Amino acid sequence: MHRGVSPRTTSRTALFTCLAIVLATTMVQGTLSTAESYQGIDRCALVETLQFNGQAANASVQWQVDLGPRLPGSEVSANFREAITENLTALDYEVSTQEHQRYDMNLTNLFAKWSPDGTSSGLLVLSAHYDSRNIADQDTNESNRSQPVPGANDAASGVAVLLELAKHIPSMGLNHDVILFFNDAEDQDQQYTLGAEAWAENLTEEEVASIHAFVLLDMVGDADLQLHNILPGNDTLKSRVVDLATDLGMVNGTVDCSGAAGEDIVQYDTLVGVLDDHVHPHELGIPSIDIMDTTYGEPKPYTFGSYWHTMEDTPDKVSAESLGAVGRLVELGLRTYAFVDIAEDLDGENTTEPTESSNNTESEEDTGSKSLAALAAIGLFSVLTLILVVEWKGKP
Ligand SMILES: [Zn+2]
Repeated sequence: MHRGVSPRTTSRTALFTCLAIVLATTMVQGTLSTAESYQGIDRCALVETLQFNGQAANASVQWQVDLGPRLPGSEVSANFREAITENLTALDYEVSTQEHQRYDMNLTNLFAKWSPDGTSSGLLVLSAHYDSRNIADQDTNESNRSQPVPGANDAASGVAVLLELAKHIPSMGLNHDVILFFNDAEDQDQQYTLGAEAWAENLTEEEVASIHAFVLLDMVGDADLQLHNILPGNDTLKSRVVDLATDLGMVNGTVDCSGAAGEDIVQYDTLVGVLDDHVHPHELGIPSIDIMDTTYGEPKPYTFGSYWHTMEDTPDKVSAESLGAVGRLVELGLRTYAFVDIAEDLDGENTTEPTESSNNTESEEDTGSKSLAALAAIGLFSVLTLILVVEWKGKP
């Protein structure tokens, strides 16, 4: 993902912004329905049943880094796909790939689809990029800047969470399809999100209409985990994430399902504009969210922290605990239909029950001000983008 906006992507970002404003004002609505209702499910009863194993996810981060740089078109990239294809096929997923040529890259997106036995209510896409960055251009040591990053947090962490979730999804009894989308070429040179962009460009209208939501995991393994409110993104999905995080003890100033005080992990009062994979489905009107930690290491101006895009992005900076926290959050979301049963909230009849988490979020859950809040968020994103463009162009 990319914090700033390079001159090459400026016009594209302006287009995203325009499209996002149009989408926000027209309040595009899905017509999908589900048999299960998020509102009717006792989330706390399910917290005790969660199975996500943070240690296993942590081992996957080490495995991915040990493979070597997962550069698009490389042998390491092919080895990665071969290994996960074998694992996911054994778990009864239907695995497929799509190849695209972008700039000088041969990129390969990999999809692992799980389908219910009976009728499916539609599709939920969970995604992470599996390529690692080809250059450590933010490294303080100049001689490192042409080296490929180890990519433990960016983005082996997101992939590791998907691979661990993959083991549990088949036994969840879900009524919809789940596609685990391992996207390629998110983070190469000055080109970002190419795999997700190519996927989105090739979706038919029917496919777009069948997708309940797109949930992106990026940089979710930082031992010092802080998940921020990423712009752009769907408000309902964001309020669901805060609900789930509250139940799991990840929101400061709230009480979790066991009665314990929440930690300061989900910090959705911190808004950050990020050009990441989720922007492409978002601009198609698919409810999308980027679950991401934007401070990896010490805070460093105009970056995502001192370890970001450096040789310091190593497995020791990632923890099983953080991967477990994010994995449990997504698992609870899957088991409660938090990411699929969102049409009713889009209707403007937001039936979200008041929870402790409401106190910590902005007025986005307020029914009357919902579209206003969406516009304000998009407006803020536009302003942030403009500031970043100005800042970027001001660089020598
Ligand atoms: Zn990156």
